[in-house]
Amino acid sequence: MRYSKFFVPTLRDDPADAEVISHKLLLRAGFIRRVTSGVYDYLPIGLRVLRKIEAVVRDEMDRAGAQELLMPMVQPGELWEKSGRMEKYGPELLKFQDRHDHQSCLGPTHEEVICDLVSRELRSYKQLPMNLYQIQAKFRDEIRPRFGLMRGREFIMKDAYSFHADEACLAAEYRNMFNAYCSIFSRLGLKFRPVEADTGSIGGNNSHEFHVLAESGEDLIAHCDACDYAANVEKAVSGRNLPQGIVADLAEVQTPDVTSAEDVAAFLSIDVGLLVKTLVYRAVGGEVDGEIIAACVRGDDQLQEIKLAHAIGADGVEMATDAEISSIGGVTGFVGPKGLKCRLLLDRTLAGAVGLVAGANRKDLHLTCLDVERDLDSVVFADLRETRAGDRCGRCSGSMQLSRGIEVGHVFELGTRYSEPMEVLFQDQGGKRATATMGCYGIGVSRLLAAIVEQCYDESGIAWPANLAPFKVGLITMGKSEAVNEASEAIYRQLLDAGVEVLWDERNERPGVKFKDAELIGLPIQVVIGDRGLADGNAEIGLRGGDRKSVPIADAVAETL
Ligand code: ATP
Ligand code: MG
Ligand code: MG
Ligand code: MG
Repeated sequence: MRYSKFFVPTLRDDPADAEVISHKLLLRAGFIRRVTSGVYDYLPIGLRVLRKIEAVVRDEMDRAGAQELLMPMVQPGELWEKSGRMEKYGPELLKFQDRHDHQSCLGPTHEEVICDLVSRELRSYKQLPMNLYQIQAKFRDEIRPRFGLMRGREFIMKDAYSFHADEACLAAEYRNMFNAYCSIFSRLGLKFRPVEADTGSIGGNNSHEFHVLAESGEDLIAHCDACDYAANVEKAVSGRNLPQGIVADLAEVQTPDVTSAEDVAAFLSIDVGLLVKTLVYRAVGGEVDGEIIAACVRGDDQLQEIKLAHAIGADGVEMATDAEISSIGGVTGFVGPKGLKCRLLLDRTLAGAVGLVAGANRKDLHLTCLDVERDLDSVVFADLRETRAGDRCGRCSGSMQLSRGIEVGHVFELGTRYSEPMEVLFQDQGGKRATATMGCYGIGVSRLLAAIVEQCYDESGIAWPANLAPFKVGLITMGKSEAVNEASEAIYRQLLDAGVEVLWDERNERPGVKFKDAELIGLPIQVVIGDRGLADGNAEIGLRGGDRKSVPIADAVAETL
């Protein structure tokens, strides 16, 4: 590709509205552009990397025995009625009516459609097991799309669905997919961690998430440094049937005199540095009635006031499921008047809050507490870094470390949650009708594009791993002489003939601009042809960010292989 013909609109400065590094760099390097909230164009250079990520995902899925298919983005409403999720899924499901007044939705996930397909074709146990996957655009009307590709409304997912005659077969496929995911994320060069996870609105039994470790991650994950226990804090502190006895050491602080959200922020800023996000609910007055003011304090101490409409119970603060909270998640602090009875209706979205409320009485620090109903007799601010594995750990008394993660993959043993209502039936070995049991396995392909950048960058730009870089070689022509142009073109042709992906910067720009762009977009190898070297028959070759060495022009192509 010749740079002068390539549509890669790079920016000199960080875009003002981008908060995290991947969002900044993907915009600056001309990989993506925003169309509307949470919806992006993938420009040619961005698409090249996206396709490489997809190729790794495809290769490992195919090796693991899954088969690719493609399902539609538009889904008929009746399938969602049948599965019982039409109302349950909530406002992330974008519904609409067509000209015949037929209810449809944009697929946020495809359990319904795949079950419908398989239910119509499945006859006998002999057709099982079967694992079908697609790589396709999903739409979720996220309440707070942000961080560029990290939390989009339209995004690309690899979603796989497996069908089995019995639980043992499902468990084996779950393992198989788990291992395939480990291979995928390793091949993408990521530092990642699989963690036990909550099953959320998808429902089901066993579940693991795969997290890319990065400070910008929206999830908080706990892992034991003595054993292999690791869980999303969302799960570690939620659910009756979930790991018990994770114990937190809570830092108790004096009740501040708070009358405004600003006071709360000032109060929290003493310890807020390490917390990316903190939610504070300030109950107004002794009797809680009407509304709660939620102040969201970010790591940069920027205070945002968000008014949340909640149902308020007579005995205190009763919070219904609220996606706004879900999207903030993580560590939560509560400020309330002395003696306030606080009852939280907990669902997974509020899981991060549980421990802190429970810990309001220091003697009772178990984060397993669920039906929380106790006096808040002081302001408690918890630092979940100091979390220890308790009796679940029964298996271990090691201390728990907390880190931030970006959820890039999620595997579920669904059981018959969808196959039963959707009637995915088959004739078993004994000739009886039986319901297939299911697993589902997702990977955020477009989120990965951002997550990789979160781990692979430096002050000059993106440092793509060699197997994912948009081009392996940046060929840079320095100077304007005919000789230098001809020599560059010859090398360019040889590189193409050798099958090397090359971006030839033959623009009429200063060398400084060319080097800056090559580093920004993250090409791993630079080959430089300049007048001075050419006079001695040499080119210069080096890795991105490293020194360059002179090599005879005749050897230049071989050096890049
Ligand atoms: P999150 O907790 O981040 O909202 P999720 O648990 O709702 O994600 P899943 O239903 O598990 O997502 O979907 C499978 C994968 O799709 C996720 O692991 C994630 O990588 C990706 N994904 C989900 N929502 C988004 C989004 N809004 N933008 C980009 N990728 C997403
Ligand atoms: Mg979600
Ligand atoms: Mg999640
Ligand atoms: Mg998930």
